[in-house]
Amino acid sequence: MALIRKRRLTEQQQRRIQKQHQTRQEEIDTSHDLEGLVVQHYGRQLEVQALSLPDQHPIKPDTKEGEPEPFWKPIELNSVWRCHTRTNLELLVTGDRVKWQADPNTGLGIITAIQPRQSLLTRPDRYHKVKPVAANISLIVIVIAPLPEPAPTLIDRYLVACEDANIPALLVLNKCDLLKENDPILLLAEEYRQLGYDFILTQSNGNLDELIQRIDNQTVAFVGQSGVGKSTLINAIIPDADQKTNVISENSALGQHTTTSTRLIRFGENGALIDSPGIREFGLWHLDHEKIDGGFPEISALLGHCQYRNCTHTHEKQCALKEGVKNGDILQRRLESYLRLIDEITEAQQKN
Ligand code: GDP
Ligand code: ZN
Repeated sequence: MALIRKRRLTEQQQRRIQKQHQTRQEEIDTSHDLEGLVVQHYGRQLEVQALSLPDQHPIKPDTKEGEPEPFWKPIELNSVWRCHTRTNLELLVTGDRVKWQADPNTGLGIITAIQPRQSLLTRPDRYHKVKPVAANISLIVIVIAPLPEPAPTLIDRYLVACEDANIPALLVLNKCDLLKENDPILLLAEEYRQLGYDFILTQSNGNLDELIQRIDNQTVAFVGQSGVGKSTLINAIIPDADQKTNVISENSALGQHTTTSTRLIRFGENGALIDSPGIREFGLWHLDHEKIDGGFPEISALLGHCQYRNCTHTHEKQCALKEGVKNGDILQRRLESYLRLIDEITEAQQKN
C-alpha cells in the first residue's frame, strides 16, 4: 500500500516537474515578443496596445467551403488587446511599457516582461500600503483657476506630490477670461514662477497652442480641483477623448462591483494622457513628513539651521526659517503653508 502511494506520488511529481519544465521553456521562448503599452488596467485585467509587429505574421488557418470562419484577430499596429500577465510579474499599471505575445486565434495576449519605468505614481491604499497607479508619467499639469479659488495649501500639496514622484510639474492657470485686474491668483502664480516652477495661462475655449506645445511628446496627467476646467481642456486638446468616467463592471470573488479605471489616450505625434478620477485627485493623498520637505526647496535649504533641533518655526526667537522670511528667501505664505501641512500630518499620525 505504502509502495503504491509512493509510486503515485512520484508520477504526480514527475508530471509536475514536466509541467514546470514546459512553462520554463515557454518563458525562455521570447522570440515572438512584441513591444506594447498598457493603456488600461482594472484589477487583474489589462489592455495592451501593440507598438510593434511580429517579424513573421501568424498565418490565418484556411477554412474549407461551407465551414464557418474561425475567430481571427490580426496583429496590427496600435490595436488593443486584452491581456493576462505571467504570474511572476509585479503588478502592472497603465503607462507601463511591456513585452507581450498575441494570440490571433483567441484575440487575447500575454504579457511576458515589464520594461524599466521612468516614473511611478503611487498612492496609499486603505491599509496604508503603497499601491502603484500609473507608470512613466513625464509631466504633471496642475490646473488652477480664479474660480473655484484654490485653498491656501493646495498648490503646495500638488508640488510636494510631484517632487516626491520625481515628475516635473507645469502650473496652468485656466479660465483666464475670469481674471480681474491684479487678481490675487495671478500674483500667486507669479510667485511660483519665481520659485522656479513653470507656469502658463489658458482659457479652455481660447488658443491652447502653448499648452499643446508643452505637453507634446510627453506622457501627461492633468490634476486639480473639481471645476477648474480639466475636462474642458482635455476635450479641447484631444477632441476624441470622451471624458466620461470609465466605469467597468468586474467580476471578483466578492461579486459584481464597479471600478473606475485608469486609462491612457495617445495624442499628437508621441504624446499620451493618463487619466482617471483618482489621478485627478493626485496631491490630495496622504503625505509623509519627509515628502513635504521635498516640495519646499527654499525651506529645506534652511532646515537644520535653527537654534533648537526641534524648532517648531513658530514662537522661537532664533529660527532660520523665520529669518529666511525676514530677509526675503522664504515667502511668509509658503512658510505658513509648510507649517500647516506638517500640522496636518502630525494630527493624522496622532489619530492613527
Ligand atoms: P473639471 O472638474 O476640472 O474637469 O472642470 P470642467 O471641465 O468640468 O469645467 C467646470 C466648469 O468650468 C464648466 O462649466 C466649464 O464650462 C467651465 N470652464 C472650463 N474652462 C473654462 C474657461 O477657460 N473659462 C470659463 N469661464 N469657464 C470654463
Ligand atoms: Zn525654526
